[in-house]
Amino acid sequence: MRVDLRSDTVTKPSLAMREVMSQAPVGDDVYGEDPTVNSLEERVAELFGKEAGLFAPTGSLANQLAIRMLVAPGEELLAETNSHIVRAELGAAAVFSGITTRTWPADRGLLRAADALEIARPNSGPYLVSTTAIAVENTHNFGGGTIQPLEEMIALHKGAKEMGLSLHLDGARIWNAHVATGIALRDYGKYFDTISVCLSKGLGAPVGSIMLSTRENVTKARGWRKRYGAGMRQIGIIAAAGHYALDTNLSLLHHDHRRAKYLAEKIAEIAPATINPDHVETNIVGLDLSTLPISAAELAQMAKDEGVLISALGPKYARLVTHLDIDDAAMEFAGNVLSQALNRALMSK
Ligand SMILES: *Cc1c(COP(=O)(O)O)cnc(C)c1O
Repeated sequence: MRVDLRSDTVTKPSLAMREVMSQAPVGDDVYGEDPTVNSLEERVAELFGKEAGLFAPTGSLANQLAIRMLVAPGEELLAETNSHIVRAELGAAAVFSGITTRTWPADRGLLRAADALEIARPNSGPYLVSTTAIAVENTHNFGGGTIQPLEEMIALHKGAKEMGLSLHLDGARIWNAHVATGIALRDYGKYFDTISVCLSKGLGAPVGSIMLSTRENVTKARGWRKRYGAGMRQIGIIAAAGHYALDTNLSLLHHDHRRAKYLAEKIAEIAPATINPDHVETNIVGLDLSTLPISAAELAQMAKDEGVLISALGPKYARLVTHLDIDDAAMEFAGNVLSQALNRALMSK
């Protein structure tokens, strides 16, 4: 058996999804004439209570288009130290938009509004950089799928608005937060000026993200998307996968959460210092190997030799992610392989 837990991006489109894609009505989206992408943008905007949406090929581009609407060149975006925007977009905010970033650290990426508000410095010119926006990641990827507490987002919104700051939600996995908490997507939408969501993570579409905001911001972002070379043509073909994902796969995410919890509990039985299963709220299991005589790369290699792929994201940090293509048999197999590998590592101490 081969079980791939490196990311929820590794899912392959199902036959049913491919069939829907093959039948999609299409047109030229640069002319605004693709009915399937238009209806997907409207549908997702509606879900979050936003005026408009813009399809982007990647979540990184959706994030970058969004923050570009909020922060002018030479101004500052605040984000958590291990956020995707800061660590995994290869400096795009600086390279493309002249945006500087400053960060606050948070255990498991968990948002405390005060952490962000305390370092915010609006209207600092002409000697210091002025803060103009704050980004929140929900769920927090490198924090281990952490769900951000609604009351902290409300407090952040209140404080930010008092300071005249804008808020961006990196909601690549906001679907997971929604499913795990039962909080309506619209309720998340209320507190943010711009939002990015991914269709290609747990929802299982092959490609696609949506940036959401006001009609004005989305119209401007559409121009920037074209400028960046991502004006696309008959993308109804891939937007149809997004529709299918929302129709069918959103309601399956709770299985990913159950399976991640199982893996965490199984691993905690052998190596309790690596993971607290109570902290596994969604589909990501982050293993802290700092007290074990093994590196993340070594654990990943041991697991790979037995057919289980995991990510080594830091010298002592390994990540497992459950997704649509992991069923209960794969989960149990991976649980056994990982507990045996950790057992061997502990024996060799
Ligand atoms: C995956 C992800 C993105 C977008 O990634 P792309 O690979 O560019 O689609 C953005 N934010 C978070 C938190 C992510 O996990």
